[in-house]
Amino acid sequence: MRTSLFITLTAFMVLLLSCNDKEVVNVYSSRHYDVDTRLLNKFSEETGIKVNTVKADSDQLVTRMETEGDRSPADVLITADGTRLVIAKERGLLQRMEPGINGSKVPPQWRDRDNYWTGLTKRVRFMVYHPGRVDVNELSDYESLTADKWNGRLLVRSSNSHYNQTLLASMIIALGEDGALEWAGGIVNNMAREPGGNDRDQVKFIAAGLGDVAIVNSYYMGLLHNSGNSEERNVAEQMEVFFPNQDGRGAHVNISGVGLAAHAPNRENGQRLIEFLLSMEAQEQIAKENFEYPVLPDAGLPDLLMNWGPFREDMVSLDSLGQYSGQAMRIFNRAGWK
Ligand code: FE
Repeated sequence: MRTSLFITLTAFMVLLLSCNDKEVVNVYSSRHYDVDTRLLNKFSEETGIKVNTVKADSDQLVTRMETEGDRSPADVLITADGTRLVIAKERGLLQRMEPGINGSKVPPQWRDRDNYWTGLTKRVRFMVYHPGRVDVNELSDYESLTADKWNGRLLVRSSNSHYNQTLLASMIIALGEDGALEWAGGIVNNMAREPGGNDRDQVKFIAAGLGDVAIVNSYYMGLLHNSGNSEERNVAEQMEVFFPNQDGRGAHVNISGVGLAAHAPNRENGQRLIEFLLSMEAQEQIAKENFEYPVLPDAGLPDLLMNWGPFREDMVSLDSLGQYSGQAMRIFNRAGWK
């Protein structure tokens, strides 16, 4: 209730702010990373376009845009989970954008075939483990984590997490509905504790001795390593990372991305912002400061990602993953994954 009031007030402020003469772009974003503020400020400095941001969960933003209809002040929708852009397109909330020079360099599986949205960054849902308690040779793929040997040792957040929903969508595509249900049930059986907390917390739980292996998004390890908090850096230093399914379909990759809103009142400015976010400079800044993988294949990587090395990606398209989001949620419920 408090959140929806907050969104209403913020959207109202966006409306007020967009009433003056100054060039503006209104951003609805579910990304929650410090690098975004720095990037959007840089965009404003370079272009003179003021950026107004409404931040909320992507499902709330999608609902908000539906309610606002053609009076929506949103120019661009940025989500932390790619499947929400697939859903936003399906609901008529996005419009075709110009891909720009760099937009057409984004690999096809990470952008919409009709250019309604594009990925901005890639994130791998990999494993983090404590090398004192787990031998790297014991790890192989997501599937093998259901083995009895992992009983009481796995850490993963709740099924509310879009990141987990999209991972399960990839399991449905790989294993079928029955296989995915069996997998989810096996993971629930082996959980060290009831799911809770965010991805960073799962890694902290390993350090606290509550479990041995966690499933988390890759960039959170970068953020822990580079945290201003020495305890977080200490947690990260105790851990190793593992890219699963390297002998098969590859590790699950999700994107964070952006689309141009269907009724964008500042369409040109929205387009400019999207091109800015796909510039080599912005792509490398996101990689360096937030440890996400750029979507531009030629973008430079920070040392940490270079040290992790190349890996095989599950090449299933975001479009396909988006088709299975609803089914993933039903399977989580049936499997008892809280
Ligand atoms: Fe995140």
